[in-house]
Amino acid sequence: MTPRLPDREEFRHALELVLARAQTYLSEVDELPVRQAGADEAAHHFRGPLPEVGDGASAAIRELLDQGSPSVIASSGPRFFHFVIGGVTPAALAADWMASIFDQVAGAWVTSPLAVQLELTSIEWLKQLFGLAPDCSGIMTSGAMMANFTGLTAARQWWGMQHDVDIATDGFAGLPKVPVFSSGYLHASSIKALAMLGIGRAQAQLLQVDAVGRLDLDALEEALRALDGAPAILIANAGEVNAGDFDPLPEMADLAQRYGAWLHVDGAFGLFAAVSPRSAHLVRGIERADSVTVDGHKWLNVPYDCGFSFVRDATLLARPLTLRADYLPDPEGKDAPLSNRAPESSRRARSLTVWATLRAYGRAGVRTQVERHLDLAQRMAQAVDRSAILERLAEVPLNIVCFRCNPGGLDEPALDALNSRLGAALIEDGRVFAGLTRYGGRVALRPAIVNWRTRPEDIDLLIEVLQELAASLIEEYQRSGSEAP
Ligand SMILES: *Cc1c(COP(=O)(O)O)cnc(C)c1O
Repeated sequence: MTPRLPDREEFRHALELVLARAQTYLSEVDELPVRQAGADEAAHHFRGPLPEVGDGASAAIRELLDQGSPSVIASSGPRFFHFVIGGVTPAALAADWMASIFDQVAGAWVTSPLAVQLELTSIEWLKQLFGLAPDCSGIMTSGAMMANFTGLTAARQWWGMQHDVDIATDGFAGLPKVPVFSSGYLHASSIKALAMLGIGRAQAQLLQVDAVGRLDLDALEEALRALDGAPAILIANAGEVNAGDFDPLPEMADLAQRYGAWLHVDGAFGLFAAVSPRSAHLVRGIERADSVTVDGHKWLNVPYDCGFSFVRDATLLARPLTLRADYLPDPEGKDAPLSNRAPESSRRARSLTVWATLRAYGRAGVRTQVERHLDLAQRMAQAVDRSAILERLAEVPLNIVCFRCNPGGLDEPALDALNSRLGAALIEDGRVFAGLTRYGGRVALRPAIVNWRTRPEDIDLLIEVLQELAASLIEEYQRSGSEAP
């Protein structure tokens, strides 16, 4: 058997196949259903053993395009409101192809002056865009999860130093538990980061005044006072995922200052409130945070994966994150690698996409996009309010609308059952996606608007499809005469 090997001649045809499909997909995605019939079966095509001899690049790529396309979820299209998943701008997509073509490693200047310079420039631009403290440093990560990990790594190092312990070197032995406080809005990724950091999931104390999760500011002050001068970590949530609400940053910054605590802010998508005067009040005080998380692949609409971690005192990251080896660049030298501030070692050149999209559209472009989404969220809220069978559950401060189906006459358990079925029916239907959550204990939908492609008619379609699916569930339930749907 003669093995098939990579061949320089293969590039042209393989890339032409992809480019041709890209043109079609990108021109059709606005009107495509989010999920096509047969998506699961199409994915199953890719089960099977390791081939002994390959078929070459063209055959592999053609198989991927032909057999794989039906199982692509159009999450980069305008009708995807599930989770908080951004689209991709043309500039960012083209730059992402370049990142792969040049295959740059954004570790140090020596591996890619281009990637490193673009990262440094983009980080400065983002600080200006969001109004962050001019003296903070920043680093690109794979997303907000790893940005939370990075910011909380700095927090952990700081906390240890308050106890005269260098945790990166000596670990936690002999230290008390780390007090971590947040509201009920705390994102799952911060809790995961606490687990990864050895602080422990259970250390997150959620101080909330209601079932929705709003911060109990008095309880927070009491808890800090009770520590009697011992250091603590506060995590503020700038944009929570159920309804897009915000913890009170200025008050939390005041408490952090008064009691000597670290203030970490998770603004994965919510920090984009800063770019419009209509919403900037929501993130007032952000420049006082010790560490800040933002996502790139959500509202900035660069491709997966990309996030940003900003840390006020970057020297705290040196001990936990520096790689030392004789063959690596000197961590104290002037070309100290970016990887010494990032959780990874080798890193994709995400900076190409971020720079390209900021260069292509500028501050005004980002602001206009965010304001369009604020308008679309209000349009959705109004449609919900007009509907006889939909019920809005929360205010809409930003880009998420939290609501449920409530035709009247059903108790809470029956409403939860109805809405769970509605959520599942929506995904099964596939025309347009939104996800379920529990808001104050009630099963609810929480569509989020973060894609530059989304138009008013896509918002209307979501409401239309939901009402159609809800009507048939209600009818089925009335026909069966059962107590619960
Ligand atoms: C999405 C999100 C995260 C996690 O981000 P990834 O991009 O999935 O890593 C963290 N916090 C908040 C508030 C988020 O919305």
